Amino acid sequence: MTKSKLWCFVLVLSFIVPAFSAEVTSPEQFLGFEVGTAKKLADMNQIVEYFWMLDAQSERITVREVGKTTEGNPFIVAVITSEKNQENLDRYRRFQQMLADPRTIAENEAERIITEGKAIVMVNCSIHASEVGASQMSMELAFDLATRTDPVTEEILENVILLLTPMHNPDGTQMVVDWYKKYVGTDYEGGRMPWLYHKYVGHDNNRDWYMFTQVESRLTLEVHNAWHPQVIVDMHQMGSRGARLFVPPYVDPYEPNVDPILRQAVAMMGTFIATEMTAQGKAGVAHSIGFDAWTPARAYHHYHGGIRILTEAASVEVATPIKVREEDLSSSAREESVSMPLPWRGGDWMLRDIVEYDYAAAMAALTNAARLRENWLRNFYQVHKKAVERTEPPYAFIVPAGQRDLSTAVKMLDVLKMGAVEVHRARQAFTADGHEYPERSFIVYMAQPYGGFAKTLLEKQVYPEIRETPGGPLKTPYDVVGHTLPLLMGVDVIQAEKPFQADVELLERIEKPVGKVETADSAYGYAWGYATNDDVVALNRLVKKGYDIFWAAERFEANGKNYAPGTMIVKNEDGLVDDLKAVAGDLWVHFDGLWAEPKIRTYALKEPRVGLYKSWTASMDEGWTRWVLEQYEVPHRSILDEEIRKGNLHENWDVIVIPDLREDAIINGVSEEDVPPEYAGGIGDVGIKNLVDFVKNGGTVITLNGAADFAIKHFHLGVENAVGELNRKEFFIPGSILKALNDTAHPLAYGFERDAALFYRRSPAFVANEGRSVVKYPTETLLSGWETGAEHLIDKAAIVDVPYGEGKVILIGFPVVYRGQSHGTFRYLFNAIYYGPAELSE
Ligand SMILES: [Zn+2]
Repeated sequence: MTKSKLWCFVLVLSFIVPAFSAEVTSPEQFLGFEVGTAKKLADMNQIVEYFWMLDAQSERITVREVGKTTEGNPFIVAVITSEKNQENLDRYRRFQQMLADPRTIAENEAERIITEGKAIVMVNCSIHASEVGASQMSMELAFDLATRTDPVTEEILENVILLLTPMHNPDGTQMVVDWYKKYVGTDYEGGRMPWLYHKYVGHDNNRDWYMFTQVESRLTLEVHNAWHPQVIVDMHQMGSRGARLFVPPYVDPYEPNVDPILRQAVAMMGTFIATEMTAQGKAGVAHSIGFDAWTPARAYHHYHGGIRILTEAASVEVATPIKVREEDLSSSAREESVSMPLPWRGGDWMLRDIVEYDYAAAMAALTNAARLRENWLRNFYQVHKKAVERTEPPYAFIVPAGQRDLSTAVKMLDVLKMGAVEVHRARQAFTADGHEYPERSFIVYMAQPYGGFAKTLLEKQVYPEIRETPGGPLKTPYDVVGHTLPLLMGVDVIQAEKPFQADVELLERIEKPVGKVETADSAYGYAWGYATNDDVVALNRLVKKGYDIFWAAERFEANGKNYAPGTMIVKNEDGLVDDLKAVAGDLWVHFDGLWAEPKIRTYALKEPRVGLYKSWTASMDEGWTRWVLEQYEVPHRSILDEEIRKGNLHENWDVIVIPDLREDAIINGVSEEDVPPEYAGGIGDVGIKNLVDFVKNGGTVITLNGAADFAIKHFHLGVENAVGELNRKEFFIPGSILKALNDTAHPLAYGFERDAALFYRRSPAFVANEGRSVVKYPTETLLSGWETGAEHLIDKAAIVDVPYGEGKVILIGFPVVYRGQSHGTFRYLFNAIYYGPAELSE
């Protein structure tokens, strides 16, 4: 039913049934309690239902289901503005599109749009689902905007179109509220959930704003790229003992591609909110603390003409009130300062307080956007005008045809395209900066509306040196510091400094490359090179069908070609050619017929039984690893503490992957004081013994990043972590991309070139007195980001293969699947999984 029809229906009904009023239902009427009442929470279904009710009852609100979440729940956005504006939404959206691309309009047209257009504000609530306040608040905000008739509300509705995402992670809201309700009134009231509040990525779900790996990120982009909001308010919560609410300005550094106009606008909006809230007597509102604006992972908007206003309210225990004594507040929260002139003096802190602070912050942002509507639109236009008229170098980035991993190169370009970046392709060969590039090479020009977004993702980061004290350690960045996609993904990209001529076409979409099968009748089998992630997917698909598959352990010649160690060979049998054709029709994999069996040593590969260790500590690395294994179709199941404690692991498993977890988290898990008994404790001493027996009996344990410490200690490996004891002044690499060297003759590095780029953060570096170092750090390591004390890495290993009993322990000492971004290193994990149970022929 359309909205107007539904409205008529409601009107008719209201005549027939006097009790059925056309009035708007308040959240309190709907829920039976005031929003923010202690120990009371609306769950996802209630919030969704309430918004649909508002859609039906109010001409000021249009609700849209943008799509389904990861778990199939509705992801909704409410568009809130005056009744008159609601009738012209398409017109205002077109205005936004025109201002966002000044190439499409004349200067006087821009002025007309600036006069007539509306400021677009997006408010995103509770992407971190345990930070429940904002999603609860959203109902009250929507109701008030739907019903109030005071001058401030009227001014907002007239000048602003609000895009309100009541739940930025609906699946998580449901999980958190279910868990809270289940344990309210017990010892575990307000406690943590033993699993992530998002199927895969948990708390990292707000660090996906340039890679767009998750469904919810992509749904948000749909809304963002349709509306181009000028102001985006992301509502979060932080710890309990600091300020009551953080608002920007951020602290240094800003990532250099963020336009200075936007940086000033962030500061202006942040201090406006702080001023309004302080005037309302809301104590403890602080700006310019802690949070920086370096990584684009949290700030898509800063590269798309909008400002990101992060708000962080002090938390309670989900919905359970807390008491904070003044002396228990952090020292910075107690003291008056230039960034917080009205400190909070301690006392009771309740969910209702969070709701009221969030509400006040949202209203202040809306008021500012309404009152300065014209400034917001003009500055938005100005940011894009500067972007499209850009003349300073670089001129473009070139992604040459003839890529080693074309399929991943296309994935990288798709990421840019999702970020609304224009990608061109050359129809003919061309020359740039004195180098020739073949036809079909891709070009990303910098002079385009979102050139800055492309630039930050394609260039090398140089993190500024900001020290805590002169000569002291580097000030800890709020997040990671390197995000160069070509390095993370293993794609060749060239930065072209000077303008050049090329015959190009703008790509609507980038076709996914596919492979082919060079059929050879009555052949022995087929070989495929092994240099790309698609090559591994091919292996996963074929191994599941039970074909005999081998890894060439030596170089061989066939078809007049040289095949490197690591080449895949599949033996012919009925049905194979059809299966290969199906694979090659879908993936960038090239199968060559082999007339005869290559006379070389090979590893026989089988479908590995992979257990991915899932602890009740809710590990994000576990979630990301599971997501990557699913994406690349690697067979796996989760293995829990209970199963590891039970033992006889070799009967059910070939490989056990332990994600990045501390030794204590693996062995002791979460204490019984914090979670119900069924989730308490880790693998325990018995689990350690069972893992050791598993490897002695031929199993493989693979540890990721910091989990190496657990294996080194409890398997008594002759391996040391050379950087484990260093302090931050001696050694500090806060999430950078480093160079490493592969031993490509070893199966763990099959299919790699000699030089590797890997993401390094809170990572070890190994001195291996036993086993084999497969990937090592050279004398110069930094590729993108920051490093202090990198000399401690020289000649240390990043990956070590240690034979142990009949089996192996493989230490991968860096975040190999880092936030689903490090496509260039995923294959180390895939290789380790297949190498574990592989048998080398005589
Ligand atoms: Zn948060």
